[in-house]
Amino acid sequence: MTKKTPAYGARAAKAPLAPMTIERRDPGPKDVAIEILYCGICHSDVHKVNDDGGTTHFPVVPGHEIVGRVQSRGASASRLREGDIVGVGCIVDSCRACPECRAGREMFCEEGVTFSFDSLEREGTNWTYGGYSANMVVDERYVLRVPKGLDPARAAPLMCAGITTYSPLRQFGCKRGDQVAVVGLGGLGHMVVKFAASMGADVTVLSGSRGKEKDTTRLGAKRFVATKEPGALEPVEGTFDLIVDTVSAPHDLNIQLTVLRNFGTMVLVGLPPAATTLDAAVLIHSNKRLAGSNIGGIPETQEMLDYCGKHGVVADVEVINANQVNDAYARMERGDVRYRFVIDSASVRA
Ligand code: NAP
Ligand code: ZN
Ligand code: ZN
Repeated sequence: MTKKTPAYGARAAKAPLAPMTIERRDPGPKDVAIEILYCGICHSDVHKVNDDGGTTHFPVVPGHEIVGRVQSRGASASRLREGDIVGVGCIVDSCRACPECRAGREMFCEEGVTFSFDSLEREGTNWTYGGYSANMVVDERYVLRVPKGLDPARAAPLMCAGITTYSPLRQFGCKRGDQVAVVGLGGLGHMVVKFAASMGADVTVLSGSRGKEKDTTRLGAKRFVATKEPGALEPVEGTFDLIVDTVSAPHDLNIQLTVLRNFGTMVLVGLPPAATTLDAAVLIHSNKRLAGSNIGGIPETQEMLDYCGKHGVVADVEVINANQVNDAYARMERGDVRYRFVIDSASVRA
């Protein structure tokens, strides 16, 4: 048995998103059925709809920054109760038995992780559909608790933008007094500012959009550098312990590496659709380190949410109706986002 569910999705690469009806499975013994309240729009959704990776299976219903309310639960689902406010991020299933799953790094599951949209379910037949929809059914192992006191609309982006930025800051030891820079002030970028500032770092924003400068102090940054202006990076050459690069389009990494100090690390989380060249000399001459970081597993995502509950960290959002999603995509493609679009899911049901 399945349940018909209203959703917004794209029927072909670069096609506008439009209303459609999808099927959700009936909850199994370990599943919870969730009424979706809000879903953030990540630039990965845009890449998927544009088929930037060449692997999107259409129709696609994006959305992996989901906050909702538990409507019902299967007979052996015991972690959550009806009415609980919960989150669903990028991961909805994995083998649960391999070393990576056992270590809580389900995104690296050796049998292949099941993402919340555009993934083949483990049964090998059905594709997953994401959070631009009215409700969803998820095994409770992959459902996150949203701490009380966090605004659900502003908590939704934590499920991807939050964990994707919290995780590298933790991995690379961000601490009080560190000089941290973020490249690109969008959904991920503004969360780097909030998290790094909350960890005591001095944060600098490296942005192509001069218009965002006025927001940076409020977000928690100390300095703003307009990277497109000639000579802009010279005053900060050799400055940063850690740079988190969140840019969604191809750009020059060699220039950015000049602002790292010796032994500093630049971690890439932005995933442009095309490759970029790297001059080995810029790393070698000052023992600089270039790294990448991929979302985060379920335990670390819960740790991040609990951290946000304790420190009052949430995203800055622009709440929209589902029929505004194509405008939101166009604005994100221009870098015009302040700082996460979030769909009010009541408008998907309307
Ligand atoms: P976003 O909200 O659209 O922000 C991206 C920012 O990049 C823009 O706001 C802009 O900041 C900057 N930018 C520079 N050149 C641009 C251009 N030509 N077009 C658009 N933006 C440009 O995106 P996001 O949701 O933060 O995602 C950023 C990237 O991270 C995407 O590639 C996404 O797929 C990837 N991602 C990776 C992971 C992971 O696990 N590593 C997880 C989620 C997302 P300024 O205006 O400040 O320059
Ligand atoms: Zn995402
Ligand atoms: Zn596994």
